[in-house]
Amino acid sequence: MSNTNVLITGGAGFIGSIFTQYYLAHTNDHVFVLDKLTYAGNLKNLEAVSQLPNYHFIEGDICDKHLLESLFEKHQFQKVIHFAAESHVDNSITGPAAFIETNINGTFNLLHQAYTTWMEGPNKLKESFKRARFLHVSTDEVYGTLGKTGLFTEQTPYAPNSPYSASKASSDFIVRSYFHTYGLPVVTTNCSNNYGPNQHKEKLIPTIIRKAISGEPIPIYGDGKNVRDWLYVEDHCKGINLALETGKLGETYNIGGRNERENLYIAHTICDILDELKPKKSSYKKQITFVTDRPGHDFRYAIDASKIENELGWKAEENFESGIRKTVAWYLENKDRL
Ligand code: NAD
Repeated sequence: MSNTNVLITGGAGFIGSIFTQYYLAHTNDHVFVLDKLTYAGNLKNLEAVSQLPNYHFIEGDICDKHLLESLFEKHQFQKVIHFAAESHVDNSITGPAAFIETNINGTFNLLHQAYTTWMEGPNKLKESFKRARFLHVSTDEVYGTLGKTGLFTEQTPYAPNSPYSASKASSDFIVRSYFHTYGLPVVTTNCSNNYGPNQHKEKLIPTIIRKAISGEPIPIYGDGKNVRDWLYVEDHCKGINLALETGKLGETYNIGGRNERENLYIAHTICDILDELKPKKSSYKKQITFVTDRPGHDFRYAIDASKIENELGWKAEENFESGIRKTVAWYLENKDRL
C-alpha cells in the first residue's frame, strides 16, 4: 500500500464517483472522499469501492475551515482533486446563494488550506510536498455561449451567463491567483457536458429517460436547437487523471469529445434506443413536448480539445451514439436512480 494520501472532494456525486472508482482501479494510494452529501451526493455511487482498504469516506463541508484544517493536518494530503460544487444551472437561477458559498468560498477554503499545509511562504513548496498537486475540475460554461460556429479554446475570454457558470468562473480565477501569487501547484480542467451512469436525475439525459419510461411528457427547452458538446464521463475522468499526473502547473486544459448534438437530437436518440430496448405500442418520441426556454439559456457550447490531445495525448474514446446506448441500458437496470 502506498503512503500517498489523496483528497477527492465531491466524490459521492456523478463525476467524482466515477473518478474515485477509476483512480482506485489504477493506484494503491489512500483515497479520502470528502462530501457533504447534499441532495446530489449519494453513497450508492461509491458502493463498488466501499470495501477497499485504501478507500475512506468523510461526510463534511468544504466550507468548514476547521474540518479542512484537521483533515490536512491528520492525513497530509499530497493530491487534491476538487469536484465538490453545486452543479445544476436551473437551481442556480432559483437559489444562487449555495452556488456562491460552495463554488467560490469552498474552493477558496480548500486552496488556502492546501497552501498552508504545502508551503511555508510564497513560492516555497515544503520538501515532503514536492509532488503535491491541486486539480480543479471546472466547466466550459465559464466561456459563455457560442453562435453557430467557433469553438472554445483555453484563450477564449470568460463570459459566464448563469449564477452557476459565474461561480465556477470565479473559482477558476481564484485557483489561477494561487498559482501566480503563491506558486501553489494547480492545474484546471474545463470540460463540456458529461453523461453516463450515476448522473443525478435532475439533469437532461436522466430526465428524458425517466419521463419517457413513466409515460409523461418529455420536456425540451425552447425549440430544442440548443447545442451541447457531450462527453462520456469515463473519458472525462481519464482526462482529469492525465492532467493531474502530467499537466503543466498553472495551465488550464479544455476537455471535450467533439460530439456536438442538438438537445432535440438527444431526445430522439434516447427514444429510438428505448423503442428498441423497451418497446411499447407507440414510439416514445410522441411524448416530446417543448417548454418555455430557460432564462439566459446559452445557445451552443463546443470545445476545442487540441491542447490536451496534442500535449498530453488524451482522446475521447466513446462517441455519443455508443455512450448513450450504454447510459440508457444502465438506467434501465438501475431504475431507482431515476
Ligand atoms: P454533482 O452535483 O453530481 O456532484 C457534486 C457533489 O459535490 C455531490 O456529491 C455533493 O454532495 C457534493 N457537494 C456539494 N456541495 C458540497 C460542499 N459544500 N462540501 C462538500 N461536498 C459538496 O456534480 P457533477 O456533475 O459530478 O460535477 C462535478 C464537478 O464537475 C463540478 O465542479 C462541476 O462544476 C464540474 N463539471 C460538471 C460537468 C457536468 O456535465 N456534470 C461538466 C463540466 C464540469
